[in-house]
Amino acid sequence: MERSIFLDKDGTLIHDVAYNISLSKIAFYPDIFSSLKQLVTAGYSLILISNQSGIAKGLFNEKELRIALDYIVGYLYQKGIPIKGYYYCPHDEQNVCNCRKPLPGLLQKAAYEHRIDLSHSWMIGDILTDVGAGRAAGCKTILLDRNRSERLLPLGYQDPFRPDYILDDFFGVANAVLDAKNKETEIYTNRHTGQ
Ligand SMILES: [Mg+2]
Ligand SMILES: [Zn+2]
Repeated sequence: MERSIFLDKDGTLIHDVAYNISLSKIAFYPDIFSSLKQLVTAGYSLILISNQSGIAKGLFNEKELRIALDYIVGYLYQKGIPIKGYYYCPHDEQNVCNCRKPLPGLLQKAAYEHRIDLSHSWMIGDILTDVGAGRAAGCKTILLDRNRSERLLPLGYQDPFRPDYILDDFFGVANAVLDAKNKETEIYTNRHTGQ
């Protein structure tokens, strides 16, 4: 079974411009490139997981959104970073759905389609709804709190929104995932050598 890193898009990989689908306003955070490469080298597949309520609100349609998502995937591919897929929730707060984060529907769908081992996978995002979705799916989670933003505080760092790590940049994210994986290997080795 495959291990994946589920990545939020806005505020995580690219700067958060509300309801943006314009390619000229897509700006990548520079710390993602070497870090994502490290994660791919370590055997993780990368999958984008995004709430896109702009569709339900009529601000753009799915075709326009896909052009923006395909651009992001193409840009990363050309940097040597393969994105295995993207999943988005087109609904908003007015709809009942099982895919809008913090619900785990998008992660579960991805896991089913790509045979992903959720318990050895991670959800990375800049707000606690990302963490909630990751936890609900049974993944480990990292809150990438780049700006130490106050909007995170109302939910509190409590279950079911308690991240495994809170980090300020993507270098830290890659280190945390790789450290955890190395420790897992050590524990396994120690168990099997009786040390
Ligand atoms: Mg975000
Ligand atoms: Zn949805």
